Amino acid sequence: MSANIFLVEDEKPIITLLQYNLEKEGYKVNFAETGEEAIQNIKKNIPDLIILDWMLPDFSGIEVCKQIKKINKLKSIPVLMLTAKSEEEDKVRGFESGVDDYVTKPFSYKEILLRVKSLLKRIKPSLIEDVSTFQDLKVDRITKRIYRADKEIKVGPTEFRLLDFLIKSPQRVYSREQLLNNIWGNEINVEARTVDVHIRRLRKAINIEGLPELIRTVRSSGYSLDI
Ligand code: CA
Repeated sequence: MSANIFLVEDEKPIITLLQYNLEKEGYKVNFAETGEEAIQNIKKNIPDLIILDWMLPDFSGIEVCKQIKKINKLKSIPVLMLTAKSEEEDKVRGFESGVDDYVTKPFSYKEILLRVKSLLKRIKPSLIEDVSTFQDLKVDRITKRIYRADKEIKVGPTEFRLLDFLIKSPQRVYSREQLLNNIWGNEINVEARTVDVHIRRLRKAINIEGLPELIRTVRSSGYSLDI
């Protein structure tokens, strides 16, 4: 499981708890403590799922959700809302604004994990599968191994993450910036050229003589896993 989760929450202990536990499961977690900051971040680096607190210092979670669902490229991201008991009766309002599911505080971490998994499964099954394939290529997330035509291929950790990401949405073209955001995240001192270097290494590893090339360069746009 390597989906990107964006957490919008202003209570530090909850941020720490969720970040620690979700990262342990293999998710990548970014967070913001206000609605404003969250929307800016989410637009720049589109997550696979959003965990959104109802009570935030600036907007309400409902308001944040409404804004997200108004933006075309963001509206399909599932939103899991955290509510306090007293807000329970407002759930209808939440569903109307596009919230996909709820967890009531105080929650157990296990409950969050279950909801996260089921939302991701509903929206994009490939995100939580242990194995993804494209043509004769296979990524095994449990053993962290890659196979081409049933033969294991050795790649470095960055190339693994790159292919693991690309194979979730074959044929979709990603810009260098999108790849940087998704694979290197908030690491600084990484430039667009770095993407080219790792794509080149990945290509070299997975291209086998006699078999079709599986990474396409789309001029001035980026790269995709394609035939
Ligand atoms: Ca709060």
